[in-house]
Amino acid sequence: MTVDTLCVQGGWQAKKGEPRQVPIYSSTTFKYETSGQMADLFDLKEAGYFYTRLANPTNDQVAKKIAALEGGVAAMLTSSGQAASTFAILNLCEAGDHVVASAQVYGGTFNLLACSLKKLGIESTFVDPDDSPAELAKAFRPNTKCVFGETVANPSGVVLDIEKFAKAAHKFGVPLIVDNTFPTPILCRPFEHGCDIVTHSTTKYMDGHSSQVGGCIVDSGNFDWSKYPARFAGLVAPDPTYHGLSYVKSFGKLAYITKCTAHLMRDFGSIPSPFNAFLLNLGLESLHVRMRRHAESAHKIAKWLKTQKKVAWVNFAGLPESPYHKLVKKQFHGNDPCGVMTFGIKGGREASIKFMDSLKLIGIVTHVADAWSCVLHPASHTHRQMTDEQLKAAGIPPDLIRFSVGLEDPKDLIADLKQALAKI
Ligand SMILES: *Cc1c(COP(=O)(O)O)cnc(C)c1O
Repeated sequence: MTVDTLCVQGGWQAKKGEPRQVPIYSSTTFKYETSGQMADLFDLKEAGYFYTRLANPTNDQVAKKIAALEGGVAAMLTSSGQAASTFAILNLCEAGDHVVASAQVYGGTFNLLACSLKKLGIESTFVDPDDSPAELAKAFRPNTKCVFGETVANPSGVVLDIEKFAKAAHKFGVPLIVDNTFPTPILCRPFEHGCDIVTHSTTKYMDGHSSQVGGCIVDSGNFDWSKYPARFAGLVAPDPTYHGLSYVKSFGKLAYITKCTAHLMRDFGSIPSPFNAFLLNLGLESLHVRMRRHAESAHKIAKWLKTQKKVAWVNFAGLPESPYHKLVKKQFHGNDPCGVMTFGIKGGREASIKFMDSLKLIGIVTHVADAWSCVLHPASHTHRQMTDEQLKAAGIPPDLIRFSVGLEDPKDLIADLKQALAKI
């Protein structure tokens, strides 16, 4: 089945007389007939539901659809994209461990790695995604447990060479985790390029209508944890909180997601509401149609912006002149990475602000990647405490505008950009 069909029909399969749409199981708990039945669930001897913090049928059906879309063996929904990144790493790392991460990742992921996980004793080394394999190899340590990257970085738009990163990770016997939020499995399936685990902020394109915050972790099932029993003791060695059960021995290819659910969700609890999972599923039903439209409109608009005298620069990896265009062609289904681009206005910070304030259809919001076109100016919003010099050092020019192209008619969007450019 192609991703187009899976968007609609993946996950929930209604049987005779059952609802067509995935039901919302708004229940904290689930009833059993004997004490023994429940005991088997607690021991992970039987699969089933008993408390929604650990698992909920609505959430599971939606996770199943995302797993199918990515071509993975299992998936788990989380209450946010941040929770997905946190759990994906904590499922492998503990105090004293180390992560190799691309420096071009979402700001929240950077803070998670550089500050919060560091406080828990997990250190990170940040690498330039354009580094050569030899340079990447220098970042690894004996206690490295995983590599983390972002397919298309938010906000820089830098494209990760998944195959290069996967090879580097596997050479050191650790998995590659990729945040695939921006392309979604419609435009890129990281497992096809050697990635082992995928994370998502489903808040963005997957939901697509700014209606819920959520996240997802998908496992390819390809990484052989049992090959490194000491390095991945959490997955291979007996877990005393489950009477000495080994996830790898008991669950095989489902070990990673089972541990994530049975252990991390149990103890840290960041399950999404089944209502949110239901909304997410409605978004997923049209993801294939929306993603291609987002990408096509972004391509058209990026091309048009390039012709405008008042525009200083445009960065969109779908354009043939982008340094990432060759990689985009190899790694993405279709020749565009997503519907998000960055550009700058001649005249720097002041001109960019005047331009944004003059937009009428295109809104100023912190969000990206949904039906409504929007812009954000990191120098005045997300990074406003920084001076122009600090911004430049962080790779964010003071004139940079992040533009998320929505599902409106690109002709109307171009007209809006045109009238705003005329005001500066
Ligand atoms: C938004 C975002 C996140 C964080 O997701 P939340 O759902 O906001 O917690 C992670 N990665 C990327 C690429 C994002 O754009």
